[in-house]
Amino acid sequence: MSSSEPETPIALLLVEDNPSDVQLLRMLLTKAADGKFAMTVVARVDAALQAIATHRFDAVILDLSLPDAEGMTAFERVQRAAPELPVLILSGFSDEQAALKLLQSGIQDYLVKGQADGLAIWRALRYAIERKRMQQNLSQLAQYDHLTGLPNRNLLSDRLTQALLRASRGKKGVAVMFLDLDRFKQINDSFGHSAGDQLLVSVAERLTHCLRREDTVARFAGDEFVVILEGIVDGSHSGVVAEKILRSLSAPLVIDGKEMHIPISIGIAVFPHDGADKETLMRNADAAMYQAKNGGGNNVRFYEPCMNERSYERLMMQNALRPAMERKELALYYQPVYALDAGRIVGLEALLRWRHPSRGLLLPADFMRLMEETGIIVPVGEWVLRTACAQYQSWRRAGLPPVGLQINLSARQLGQSGFTDFVERTLRETAMDPTAVTLELSENTLMENARQANDALKALHALGLRLSVDDFGTGYSSLPYLKRFAVHTLKIDRSLVADLPHNSENVVIVRAIINLAHDLRLKTIAEGVETPEQLALLRAHGCDQAQGFLFSAPLMQEEVPDFVADPARGWPPLDPLA
Ligand code: C2E
Ligand code: MG
Ligand code: MG
Repeated sequence: MSSSEPETPIALLLVEDNPSDVQLLRMLLTKAADGKFAMTVVARVDAALQAIATHRFDAVILDLSLPDAEGMTAFERVQRAAPELPVLILSGFSDEQAALKLLQSGIQDYLVKGQADGLAIWRALRYAIERKRMQQNLSQLAQYDHLTGLPNRNLLSDRLTQALLRASRGKKGVAVMFLDLDRFKQINDSFGHSAGDQLLVSVAERLTHCLRREDTVARFAGDEFVVILEGIVDGSHSGVVAEKILRSLSAPLVIDGKEMHIPISIGIAVFPHDGADKETLMRNADAAMYQAKNGGGNNVRFYEPCMNERSYERLMMQNALRPAMERKELALYYQPVYALDAGRIVGLEALLRWRHPSRGLLLPADFMRLMEETGIIVPVGEWVLRTACAQYQSWRRAGLPPVGLQINLSARQLGQSGFTDFVERTLRETAMDPTAVTLELSENTLMENARQANDALKALHALGLRLSVDDFGTGYSSLPYLKRFAVHTLKIDRSLVADLPHNSENVVIVRAIINLAHDLRLKTIAEGVETPEQLALLRAHGCDQAQGFLFSAPLMQEEVPDFVADPARGWPPLDPLA
């Protein structure tokens, strides 16, 4: 404050029951600082607490013996009611020991009646106020995040410790929620850091609104927040709060005039069930959050014990998978598909392989689930489509007969916005005939993503591509229901083919699938045909096409041209029924 401005008088609360002491103090202070202070006087601690609740004060001067509280008790009550107020003691005795103890417990100064003159008291007051303000600034800095004003990691840790202590005593639960914005990096990169900052502030506000006053929401790091909910008696309460948070954040935020949606992933671990200490709870809530994110984000997951193992495995693979594409360790193999009436190759299914630098050639069973979980399947799937189409076209230019190309899709790709555009662009860039391409989607993927899948499938169908339901017969779908999806082909799952013709139940199922498919004008392909007997049975029941080791294992790219140049190659020379 500059010296030319009139200073606002310092508001003092004097708690003193002896009228002559009040008078003396007022006289001393007036002499030292007339007009620079305003003093309210009360005689009891109760009255002091009431005054503090209704008026703003800069400092309290407290007599140590009052009618309704003695010594430390009076101070403690005042401090509990207003921890931010500096308190000075005015005592009748000079007791160095007592003074020291009081100072250590947070009292700002200890004045002895009759010893201090007005100026000394005034100075002590001013210093006490200043000291308290500085202490508060420092603790604010040490405990709160400067951007959002939320508690930071340090304060979070204290609060969680306290919450767990209270919970152990009260036999209640504490929920720890780990929250992570799904697309923060993207927003930061495309709109700049200041937009990113504004977004974090707005998210912090919305989170605060979703919670009760006694709950804690802290900024843990970057775009990560942690919420502590106390007094949990029923685990579902935290789920309800998490849903409330998702809903609250689903309304768009306007930053720099642009509307932004902020999906968020939430993981929950509940004390004592999911962890007895702070570290375990935090780690488990974090693992659950990762699972929520891997499930596509904007989602809530409760912790399950298997999550930590999975996150380790995922981390190892993820680290190795990311560079696999750049290091050209991924490869496509192609398995010929045969028409059973004509006995010749009518298609090639592209199958992904990973030439792992130390573990050798890996099959999708070794890495596909992790690719899906981590989302790496999205760029990899794009690579598969682009590579298969480009390869196919170069074979065609070299004289390969026009067989079909079958490409597997994952649910993650289908859910990706702009996926259809990507397919369309790839077909155009590789000059690929859309009608030569069949996209395969497993029955389970299709059913689990039915609503979302349908629009994408319609759009792909409109581009001229064919769609095939992979691994059919293992899921729970009915054929007529599938028909809604503009599907062209059913691939009968390997597990149904494997023990034909001996397993009579499977014989019945396979026959029923083929017949029903034909009624609905769908083609059928049998997967995993390994024996002439299987082939004979499938032919006898009118299955349209087949693939399997009986004809050919998946081929390396270099092997394909020679193999397909003679479309009858691989066809069993001996048809057991013929
Ligand atoms: P799928 O699409 O059902 O592929 C057929 C799988 O059966 C292939 O396994 C193939 O090598 C195997 N197979 C073929 N003939 C026989 C046989 O006679 N006997 C036996 N026991 N197996 C046979 P693969 O290559 O290990 O692929 C496994 C699955 O991984 C595929 O099943 C597919 O769902 C997925 N996949 C493969 N490549 C891709 C890809 O590029 N993208 C996506 N999203 N998934 C892929
Ligand atoms: Mg397939
Ligand atoms: Mg299959």
